[in-house]
Amino acid sequence: MTYEQAKARIPDRPLPEFWVGDLGRVDKELAKVRTAKVEVITRTPGNRPVHLVSFGEPEKTVSKANFNSAIGGLDESAYMNKEARYRPVILFVGPVHGHEVEALTGLMNLINVMETGKDLAGKERRELRELGRRCRLLIIPAGNPDGTARFEPRALNGMTGSDLRFWGQGTWTDDTFCGWPQSKRQHPMVGDNVRFLGCYFNEAAVNPMHDEFFAPMSGEAPAILDVARREGPDLAVSLHSHESAPALLRPAWVTAEKQEDIRTLAGLYHGLLDERGIKHGGIFSASAEGGPNPAALNLTSAIYHVSGASSFTFECPHGLADERSYKVDFQGILEMQLALYEAMMRHEIAKTQ
Ligand SMILES: [Zn+2]
Repeated sequence: MTYEQAKARIPDRPLPEFWVGDLGRVDKELAKVRTAKVEVITRTPGNRPVHLVSFGEPEKTVSKANFNSAIGGLDESAYMNKEARYRPVILFVGPVHGHEVEALTGLMNLINVMETGKDLAGKERRELRELGRRCRLLIIPAGNPDGTARFEPRALNGMTGSDLRFWGQGTWTDDTFCGWPQSKRQHPMVGDNVRFLGCYFNEAAVNPMHDEFFAPMSGEAPAILDVARREGPDLAVSLHSHESAPALLRPAWVTAEKQEDIRTLAGLYHGLLDERGIKHGGIFSASAEGGPNPAALNLTSAIYHVSGASSFTFECPHGLADERSYKVDFQGILEMQLALYEAMMRHEIAKTQ
């Protein structure tokens, strides 16, 4: 598929008022924020700001060691005495794959709920706001603004798997899709063989989900990890999208206990989806890494290793039109996102009681 062909396939349609699929809208909405602290945690290779929006005051903690040294010293609280805090700290990492704007929409709506009690369509969400006020919420609405800036359709809902592959992972110079897993076998995605750079990547062709965390190739992942390191969240999510049902993925390269914690959260989330008539898949089984194709130590894993957070990846359906894809409309996507945030807050608040 060529760029011209991909552009011609973008449907000419109005997007719902609550949908946030571009950075201009993010700027407009963030300019209205009054009750949160909004800061720029880094600038991308394309010179775009990565924002952090924090609701709730930080509580005092003591830190005597970095996380892995504290673990080595058999005392996790040497990294941070999290048990001294009254309120849970939750970190939401918006799309590091720029086209996965379902989460950009979800997080910008969450920000508006915390500000006004309503989502961006004006619907009352008081209960979610009350839960949010019992936590400290750290929201990075766009984890890869360069990638999102390249995403011209602003939504993949009702489009096809081919559109997803074009905009997501990009194309080679013969106009075939890079696709998965080949799109991860060249990183950074630079070279004579690359034509359209997919929205997985920033302007330096780095996919922040798979940055080299011990010797970073770009700034987004380190800035996200800095937030995790200094804040010590109890729970953290990296928000993604895919073709299938909504799913919490098994966190890799973390302890069995952290995997079980996320399994419990998945059960709570599925309960909320059942109440709201939204279909979902099963829950992963906890397991150790191994086998011929072990899971990668990705950004989600790295968040645990710098902060001790229960950290997981969430995959939201785009609502593609292909027969085998999970079907959901724009409103359904917003409900799935907000239900996830609600489940995360309830899960952590329950531990403080
Ligand atoms: Zn993704």
